[in-house]
Formats: sequence, C-alpha cells, structure tokens
Amino acid sequence: MTDVADLPTGTGLEVDVAGNLARVRAEIDGACAAAGRDPGDVRLLPVSKTHPVAVLERAYAAGVRLFGENKVQEAAEKAEAFAEADHPDLRWAMIGHLQSNKVRQVATFAHELHALDSLKVARGLDRALAELDRTLDVFVQVNSSAEPQKSGLAPEDVEALLTELVDLPSLRVRGLMTLALNSDDEGAVAACFERTTALRDRLPAELLGRELSMGMSGDFALAIAHGATTVRIGQAIFGARETR
Ligand SMILES: *Cc1c(COP(=O)(O)O)cnc(C)c1O
Repeated sequence: MTDVADLPTGTGLEVDVAGNLARVRAEIDGACAAAGRDPGDVRLLPVSKTHPVAVLERAYAAGVRLFGENKVQEAAEKAEAFAEADHPDLRWAMIGHLQSNKVRQVATFAHELHALDSLKVARGLDRALAELDRTLDVFVQVNSSAEPQKSGLAPEDVEALLTELVDLPSLRVRGLMTLALNSDDEGAVAACFERTTALRDRLPAELLGRELSMGMSGDFALAIAHGATTVRIGQAIFGARETR
C-alpha cells in the first residue's frame, strides 16, 4: 500500500507515470486476489488534478483513457487541450463537489460525476445535458464518516434523492461514491466503506446501479476488500500534491 507521506511532491513531470501505473494496477490485482474478487470488476480511475497536460499525455501513452479532476475550470481546459490533440477516446470524470453555477460547463465535456449530492445540481445538469443531447454517468456521494466538513448526503437522505433522479433521463445513476475518514485507524476507515456498501445493498436496484466509487492512494486495498468497483487514485500514480 502506498504511504502518501513518503512520496516526493512536484508537478508529476519528474515521476515515472507508466511505472507507477503498472505498480498500482498490480496492487489492485493483489487486493482483488486477497478479497477473492475478479480484477475485471475493479476499475482504476487515475486522478490527474493539479498536474499539467504533459503528464496526462504520458498517462495516455501508458493506456489511460479516463482522468479524474476536481476543479471544473482546470478539467475543461485539459479536456479542450486533449480534444485539440485528437484524443477522441478520452473520458473525463469530475470527482469533486459541484456548485450549481458550474453545471452547464460540466455538461459540455464530462462523462462521469462522482460527487452528486443535491437535487438542484442534478436538475441543472439534466436540463443542460438534454439541450446538448448528452448524458452523464453519476455516482451519488455519501458522507460515510459523518464529518461535518465533508460533502455528500447523510446515508439516510440518499434514497430520497435517488427517487427524484429517476425523473431525470439524462443522468445514469451508476452507484454510490464515498470518501473514507482520513485516519490511520484501519477499522474506522473500513467502517466507512462498510456503511456505503451496506447502504447500496439496502437500496432498491431500480433506483441505482450497483457500483461503488471508493478508495484513494492511501486506502484503496481496504476499499477493494469492502466492495469498491472504482478506485480513484492520484498520488500513487502522479506523485504527491502540495494541497488538495
Ligand atoms: C484527490 C482525490 C482523490 C485521489 O486522492 P489521492 O490521494 O491522490 O489518491 C480521490 N477522490 C477525490 C474525491 C479526490 O478529490
């Protein structure tokens, strides 16, 4: 498992992105084997926020076709740079909390949103997407750690939002997303993942897909042990970030 605190910080240009990707993929396979899961059921979402397009190009050359970003403006600029560089098979996942004044912009280029937590944002997205004749895959964010500073819905509020999303045809609800407690206490981190998986299991299948977006550089093996189907990994691939 990657100890993020040991990674050097930088732009990512000094980092062996292809080597790190291979190592992370091997660690994902190892976590799947340990959990008795099929590695084909766990998708790697490389998180490229803060890193320049030149670093993303290296990841693209190493086979990456989906990037996660958390700032709308930064993501839009990168998406445009890649569109001009003729990479039509590239997809973009917004993983950070989205303000309703940014929904129109996100609707133009994003393929996935991992942090849906309000009906207002959902309705704005659905309207903008319909006008553009696009659709968006969404994950509803659950605040599984009950930390007040974290985005996401309380677990008991998720079903009410999902019930409204059924009427928004441009959104495809693939499942739930969560950020675990940032802690050395493995049991406390695991409890966040368990809560999210249990919630998914309780919710009616007609309201959402069965996917779980959970696990980051520091905790993805644990997330896989508890059912993650997408792991969002930045620092273990691109090197440590100063902030965010
Ligand atoms: C930055 C971020 C990640 C990736 O975190 P790393 O520590 O770089 O692996 C995952 N999910 C969200 C929501 C993020 O903002």
